[in-house]
Amino acid sequence: LVSRKTRKEDTVIELPQGVLVGGAASLMVAGPCSVESEEQTRTVAAALAKAGIKVMRGGAFKPRTSPYDFQGLGMDGLRILREAADEYGLLTISEIVDPAHIEPALDYVDVIQIGARNMQNFELLKAAGEVRKPVLLKRGLAATLEEFIHAAEYIMSRGNTEVMLIERGIRTYEKWTRNTLDISAVPILKQETHLPVLVDVTHSTGRKDILVPCAKAGLAAGADGIMVEVHPDPATALSDAAQQLNIEEFNQFYNDVKASGLFR
Ligand code: PEP
Ligand code: MN
Repeated sequence: LVSRKTRKEDTVIELPQGVLVGGAASLMVAGPCSVESEEQTRTVAAALAKAGIKVMRGGAFKPRTSPYDFQGLGMDGLRILREAADEYGLLTISEIVDPAHIEPALDYVDVIQIGARNMQNFELLKAAGEVRKPVLLKRGLAATLEEFIHAAEYIMSRGNTEVMLIERGIRTYEKWTRNTLDISAVPILKQETHLPVLVDVTHSTGRKDILVPCAKAGLAAGADGIMVEVHPDPATALSDAAQQLNIEEFNQFYNDVKASGLFR
């Protein structure tokens, strides 16, 4: 179902408010790594709305490497995200990690995110396939493109046709980036599937100083959108403190990406 052979045209996903993913316009998804508080989330939402961003991300269920790290605010986090987004006219994307949370999350998210660590959580993929809500599927940390495409097929095979893929870097021996952004994944996924493809510059690189060239590279390779993390005060962030942009840095980043002419 995901294959280009079954559908020649690009799939364009329509989110609420007429926001299109995979169409003529590029999408910029921005927001904090984690929803930490009402104030933090509202501050980001206000800044994003001012910059003209339409879709805000924010993690409420955080799949952390250490069990002692901040695990997210759970359903409370989803509520905070929704309220802040509604206040500023934004749409929401948030990661769901438990199949049982898919249904309850529907009231709070416009897009269900399935994270890299859960790309092959098949029960979660099936549950996301049962609902009629767009899904943003992240590539696994060490997933081949074939495995990534099969994961998308799991969702679509249950009837949910609104799937977007996002390259977020894979594990290699390279240590100067957190993961290795696999730019070649973008044209291959565009060629092999008809689904929208995004690039997550934050989690792939894990560093702020190369976000603009990596976003440009993703767009030049054919990506339909970019994801980036933004926090009012990254130094105090409860997750990914080292790599989130502050609001001023985000505005600069977004302006630079737009100025490249690659952001449609
Ligand atoms: C995220 O986007 O919040 C996240 C945890 O990313 P990933 O699943 O790609 O590691
Ligand atoms: Mn993060």
